[in-house]
Amino acid sequence: MGKLWDKICGVRDRNRPFCTAVIPAAGSSERMNGDNKLFMDLCGAPVLMRTLCVVDQTERVDEIVIATREDLLEQVADLCSRAGLKKSVKVVKGGSSRLESVLAAVLEADPRSELIAVHDGNRPLILPSEFDDLVRQGSSTFAVAPAVPLTDTVKFTDENRRVKSTPDRRSLFAVRTPQVFQIDILKAALQSAREAGELITDDCSAVERLGKEVYLTPGNPENIKITIPLDMIVAEAILKRRERGDR
Ligand code: C5P
Repeated sequence: MGKLWDKICGVRDRNRPFCTAVIPAAGSSERMNGDNKLFMDLCGAPVLMRTLCVVDQTERVDEIVIATREDLLEQVADLCSRAGLKKSVKVVKGGSSRLESVLAAVLEADPRSELIAVHDGNRPLILPSEFDDLVRQGSSTFAVAPAVPLTDTVKFTDENRRVKSTPDRRSLFAVRTPQVFQIDILKAALQSAREAGELITDDCSAVERLGKEVYLTPGNPENIKITIPLDMIVAEAILKRRERGDR
């Protein structure tokens, strides 16, 4: 009864680490025909609102920090209040690169925070249970990320798109989010990557640079990132199938 009552009242279980979900949402949507993918309607709700509502339903996340563009700060704050989020939420100014946006949000995390779960604002199809599972795994590793095996063959090319080599597909994975880190390691890794001027497209790679182990765990293939118009069609189909209760 005690645990159930605490859950209903939103009381934090002190036996688990305090976790901040960092949501980078300061991108420019260049590959979406100029539309901001985060505000596009996906089955009745904006993409970013759907992402935030899932994170809000998790059991192992204690607060949410969203990094967005300066010109969208008000719009994102309004979206959060319309979503009726129950967890503590902060909206901060992101940067010109993903690394800058994530770092800006990490620096605003609650002082009690031990774990950071970085989740792309444009990945609305993650399930709360999957998110919680990653946070649970993150508390016993330096860094963990969901990944799916590649189905296409990948080629390395030179600058003229001439093929140089073909890596063995069996050892290649597409890495997704949420990626979960011990906060001190992520902060050090991002600051070091920034000083080195590294281009970081996923946060694990910053941790790898420091020589720390990063673990991959099997990811749900449905947790796609909304990047190009085709992704909206796929996401709508997945959501409609879920609403029908089909597997
Ligand atoms: O460009 P991509 O789809 O990989 O971006 C992943 C996430 O990172 C998106 O939610 C995007 O808004 C965010 N981002 C950011 N700051 C940037 C660039 C991207 O927060 N400067």
